[in-house]
Order: sequence, then structure tokens, then C-alpha cells
Amino acid sequence: MAVVEVIRDKKVVDLVFTLKGVDGTILDQAEKDDPFVYLHGAEQVVPGLEAGLTGMKVGEKKQIIVPAAEGYGEVDSRLKVVATRSQFPKDVDLEVGVQFETETPDGDELVFTVCAIEGDKVHVDGNHPLAGQTLHFDVEVVQIREATHEEWEHGHAHGPEGHEHLH
Ligand code: ZN
Repeated sequence: MAVVEVIRDKKVVDLVFTLKGVDGTILDQAEKDDPFVYLHGAEQVVPGLEAGLTGMKVGEKKQIIVPAAEGYGEVDSRLKVVATRSQFPKDVDLEVGVQFETETPDGDELVFTVCAIEGDKVHVDGNHPLAGQTLHFDVEVVQIREATHEEWEHGHAHGPEGHEHLH
């Protein structure tokens, strides 16, 4: 008897999915000819999606609804900040949509997006664009394989469809 592979930690999973917002807008998707490849148990996907995928088999389809708290988090108003132009490096073109990377006092990396500019005032937002949203995932499991030791050490999938890098 062949062992039936199920999704669990240290498995590399090929996934077809559609991500929709509450209003039905498609926010992201991966199709069968170009599936999304990730390493399960390595926090490569949001917690609610990872929990919903656990235990699924190849060929299985499922709708997974992820509340904001299990997705990209609730909107944190403290991350909406008004800065002044002088706080940015002189050589950057400040315009709406430009992103900046900063470090929080505890050393976490945070990406801020410029969301509005009024004269000298620059409104920036450090929330993920999908923060505060309930996420509707339609998923289909295409393939499951054992992760290599190296993949598990790196915390991501390698290979033609996974993460490519030189080392
Ligand atoms: Zn790697």
C-alpha cells in the first residue's frame, strides 16, 4: 500500500489557489501551470491558511476563510504616521506608493508605504495592504513532497518553482 501524503510540517506543497476579499475581488492567485510552492510549517503563508491546509491530501479542494487576526493582522492605527519631507533621504522621489524599510525598536523589519502627500506632510502606513481583511482562499493541493534538510534549514522551498538562490 502506498502511503498517502498529507500536508504537515517539513512538506513542500504545490498549491493552486484564488484569494478573494470579502467583496469577491480577486486579490491574488496561482494557477495549475504555475502553482504556488511553499514549505509547510515555516511561516511562509499566513497562520490561518497554514492551519487550514494542514492534513489536506493531493487533489483535495477546500475553501479556507481566514479572519484578519489569523491573516495579515488587524489594522494598527499606530502604524499610520504623518512624517515631514525632511525625515526622508534627500535622494528619494517621494510619491504615493513608494515603500520604505525601517527597523522597529525591537529589531523587526517594517515596510512603510507612502499613502498621501500634502505639502510638507507625508502620510505613511506600516500596515500590510491586506491588514484588517477577512481572506477567502479557494485552494487545491497539486503536489506534496518531503522537504530536504537544506530547505527546512532555510525555511523555504527550493527548486524550479520554489525559491532560487545561489548557495
Ligand atoms: Zn534557501
